[in-house]
Amino acid sequence: MDNLQKYQIYIDGKWGDSSSGKWFESQNPYLGKPWAAIPACTVEDVDRAVNAASDAFESGEWADMTASARGRLMRKLAALIEENSQALGEVEVRDNGKLIAEMAAQTAYIPEWYYYFGGLADKIEGAVIPTDKADTFNYTLREPVGVCAMIVAWNSPLMLMTWKLAPALAAGCTAVIKPSEFTSASALEFMKLVEQAGFPPGVINVVTGGAEVGEPLVRHPKVAKVAFTGGEIGGQKVYEAAASGLKKVTLELGGKSPNIVFDDADLDNAVKGAISGIFAATGQTCIAGSRLLVQDTIYDEFVDRLVSFAATARLGDPSNADTQVGPVTTPIQYKKILNYIDIAKNEGAKCLLGGGPAQGPDGSGDWFVQPTIFGNVTNDMRIAQEEVFGPVLSIIKFKDEEEAIAIGNDIMYGLAAGVWTQNLRRATVMAKRLKAGTVWINTYRAVSYTTPFGGYKRSGLGRENGQEAINDYLQTKSVWISTATETPNPFIMR
Ligand code: NAD
Repeated sequence: MDNLQKYQIYIDGKWGDSSSGKWFESQNPYLGKPWAAIPACTVEDVDRAVNAASDAFESGEWADMTASARGRLMRKLAALIEENSQALGEVEVRDNGKLIAEMAAQTAYIPEWYYYFGGLADKIEGAVIPTDKADTFNYTLREPVGVCAMIVAWNSPLMLMTWKLAPALAAGCTAVIKPSEFTSASALEFMKLVEQAGFPPGVINVVTGGAEVGEPLVRHPKVAKVAFTGGEIGGQKVYEAAASGLKKVTLELGGKSPNIVFDDADLDNAVKGAISGIFAATGQTCIAGSRLLVQDTIYDEFVDRLVSFAATARLGDPSNADTQVGPVTTPIQYKKILNYIDIAKNEGAKCLLGGGPAQGPDGSGDWFVQPTIFGNVTNDMRIAQEEVFGPVLSIIKFKDEEEAIAIGNDIMYGLAAGVWTQNLRRATVMAKRLKAGTVWINTYRAVSYTTPFGGYKRSGLGRENGQEAINDYLQTKSVWISTATETPNPFIMR
């Protein structure tokens, strides 16, 4: 541990070690070696963090701050992230194995969430209601829900944290963040900027560790709302734990999104869309277009073009700007992907590209998987139904629109879908009939702070991003004022 970069947690505006006095290692996925020591938090640390967040919510500088001042503080934080976006991006490359080419764009984009939601802070308005009751004045207040627990997955740590933190701060909530145990470093680096921006102590706190830290956080009686991004199993457990305290919950879970190519599509663009759908971020994205549905009339031609293009992917060091596919982020994930490749082969899918571990450059670890494409997949196979979360594409043939919709929707998930067609009627019908929280037509992966994002079916609950995201961090209070000069008969409810 002595040769590793040692991090501290951030609670109540102070840096410190965990109460266990222990650390766990964070790995550099490219080198396959530990590079950082992250505090192993305990239930006691969770309690301290939640109490700090609760105190900051109940009284003091943050509780008394006007919404406009909150917005200004958020914009100050946004400007600091902008100044430091390169450095934050480099931490995620080291800790997560994400490509620097992607991270430079992602961390430079994150400030927009704090500008957008900071701008929204003083536009959270109640209403004056023209009620049916005579001699009364009735209005609503939209108030922050309180302390929010934010539990985040490892695949886009700062971005996924930001989707929760920005609307929560705008609403006036306080936060305890628990990043993934695999990628905690960037959240802790981020807290240096929170401190520099001048957020009052206790408004944003970070505890680190795995489910043993996440679970007491969710169950803590002073936590009012839980915002979770992760897998289905973790999501279910979090939902159950939150239910026992009747807490508000939003869940952003997994997907097995259909990316559907019709024979009237611009095939060059569709090939690129299919590649970006599955190989960007080494396939480790919830929105991966991991089921590629191709119309039978162009199946052979399209698959040939796709396989030739995918075969040119450059695997390598994620900190090199030319690298196109980086390592898998964790050894557990690496084994899971290889296991799914075996499952696909055993189910009779035809391996058209890759299909096993890949050799990383000299000096790298062994966490590379070949970009892999399976043909002859039917939608009932496990490789078509289960989330691999890696660079593994399943191609399924379809005949017409009806069949594309039936296959597309025949899955427990409903996070996203892509449609490639130049026919406007078809595009509109597909967008309406696909059961997914996001549908892309002739593009893939577009997400923005302006636009709601979330899952249908078992892909989640609630929406992040866009104006409606703030509603999950607010509750409405109705205020009744009597303007009557006399109290009517008090024994009758009116
Ligand atoms: P995971 O569910 O294993 O872990 C997610 C987070 O939850 C981690 O911080 C983990 O420590 C914590 N956690 C796990 N069990 C918990 C419990 N019982 N109580 C409290 N906290 C608990 O998921 P992961 O492997 O980190 O991430 C991959 C998954 O996340 C994939 O399924 C992916 O699709 C999904 N994901 C969804 C979105 C989205 O926006 N819909 C975005 C990114 C990733």
